[in-house]
Amino acid sequence: MQRYFVRIVDNFAILSEDDVFHLTRVMRAKKGTEIEAVCDGSVYLARVEKLKPLQIPIIRKIRENNELSNNVILIAALVKGEKMDMVLQKATELGVSEIILLQTERTIVKIKKDDKQVKFERFRKILKEAAEQSKRTKIPSLYRLITLEDLDTIEAKVRMIAYEQLEGSCASFNKVLDTIKPKDTIAVLIGPEGGFSESEVEIAMHFGYKPISLGRRILRAETASFYALSVIANHLEK
Ligand code: SAH
Repeated sequence: MQRYFVRIVDNFAILSEDDVFHLTRVMRAKKGTEIEAVCDGSVYLARVEKLKPLQIPIIRKIRENNELSNNVILIAALVKGEKMDMVLQKATELGVSEIILLQTERTIVKIKKDDKQVKFERFRKILKEAAEQSKRTKIPSLYRLITLEDLDTIEAKVRMIAYEQLEGSCASFNKVLDTIKPKDTIAVLIGPEGGFSESEVEIAMHFGYKPISLGRRILRAETASFYALSVIANHLEK
């Protein structure tokens, strides 16, 4: 059953223009077609009653919560092209609550101030579609593009920086995971294709980010995000 993030007005699901097109043209909805309508973190069953004009009354609330127990923030250095889209999509499937984009010494991609709005709109579309596909009740937020100096503006109890120069056992990662308490927000920093410089790791450590290894192999930046988030999600849902 198709899921959409909607507004609810007078017990009717109100879809965005794009979603109306998707439901009526792509999915060829008919009278009686049912959808899962998500609003403010709750899921509802809704059923198409009329197509012109489109009317989709809410039938009932669906008991479901597919969100992680703790908020997880991915602070991901900008990576090139498709890889950025993949990081956003997979991070959403893996349950992140927020994605913060990071410009570092070695990020190849630079987002100029006036491009930010357009780029972030496109990125948010990826997050919304991934959240619908993965049956989430929350779309990860994405509004910040920061440098390491801004790390102290991020509220997170458990802070990690994935550093590829660390000796390769996962003990450092598991040690930090074992400190996680219920309701702790967890933030994990992943570097760009060129990695973090030593001084960047020092800045992160200054702000309480513990260096962790993701194992003996050097992962591509996008793989590192997937791996780190998978381990965190597994730890929270074991
Ligand atoms: N400069 C590196 C590649 C950086 S990989 C090289 O080719 O040698 C991009 C990012 O992924 C790194 O900055 C780090 O955040 C993460 N990463 C990749 N492999 C890792 C590992 N084994 N341990 C910790 N972090 C890793």
